[in-house]
Amino acid sequence: MSDHAEALLRLMQRHPRWVVLSGAGISAESGIPTYRDREGDWRAPEPVREQAFRSEYHTRQRYWARSYHGWPRVRDAVPGPAHHALAALEAQGRVALTISQNVDGLHQRAGSTRVVDLHGRVDSVRCLDCGDVTPRDAMQVRLAPQMSTAPLLDPTPRPDGDADIGAEHYENLDVPPCTACGGTVTPDVVFFGGSVPRERVRACLEAVENADGLLVVGSSLAVYSGFRFCRHAAKLDKPIVLVNPGWTRADDIATLKLPAEAGPLLTAVTRELAGEPA
Ligand code: NAD
Ligand code: ZN
Repeated sequence: MSDHAEALLRLMQRHPRWVVLSGAGISAESGIPTYRDREGDWRAPEPVREQAFRSEYHTRQRYWARSYHGWPRVRDAVPGPAHHALAALEAQGRVALTISQNVDGLHQRAGSTRVVDLHGRVDSVRCLDCGDVTPRDAMQVRLAPQMSTAPLLDPTPRPDGDADIGAEHYENLDVPPCTACGGTVTPDVVFFGGSVPRERVRACLEAVENADGLLVVGSSLAVYSGFRFCRHAAKLDKPIVLVNPGWTRADDIATLKLPAEAGPLLTAVTRELAGEPA
């Protein structure tokens, strides 16, 4: 067992109940690249902003056409070793809640049941006017007649199911409206510049208050929405562990920084803990 795994194991033996905060890095092992690289710099042009999506028809045309091409790769991604390890830790009674900043739903597919999708889920679509929620696959079927094969300008998949295609493939797109009321539909996610529903944040803060520590896996924490849980844990003097081979915004306030890939580390620790009572 590596020194990093030893250190995490000892801390988890001392503190039985954890809240996990996950970020894009945990899905990197499932072939979905992160938003930022290890230095904390953006890999791709900044994604859609909430305000632009709501107010500009051409932003919605662009979003849905690009998503048409990018969504299948997120839909078909499978959980990686870190998702499976965290599901096992939940089953062992050591993880009280997983707060996911990812929109890919991979924690649930790995078997975690106590999950808050902080920024929503890209596999459902919501109407901004009447609130009707429908599966993302239904939107794919409705978009299909207007879409043709478009070469990807950048072949790298994006974590939010975006894909880089030329503007000529969407400038005439008729964005399908809500089937219930004819209103404007959005992926059921919190875009940049949008806000997380207050009661969702409250539930996560309470979970941190009731836990013995906060385990952050694969997040740069550059976005305040996730970083706030580290601030909260620090204020309450709870241990904060960061599993991330690169820079994070909480490096200064962490109890333990483990610069390692999440999959092998969490798998080793979970196996070791499996034989012990929580
Ligand atoms: P991030 O890309 O900022 O950070 C990913 C981190 O993972 C990096 O620090 C990297 O060093 C680390 N990493 C890479 N491989 C790893 C591995 N194998 N094991 C452990 N760590 C690894 O992602 P983030 O922290 O999730 O922040 C992105 C934020 O932006 C999220 O809150 C996301 O929801 C939000 N966002 C939302 C949208 C949207 O449209 N809803 C779009 C873009 C971003
Ligand atoms: Zn509607």
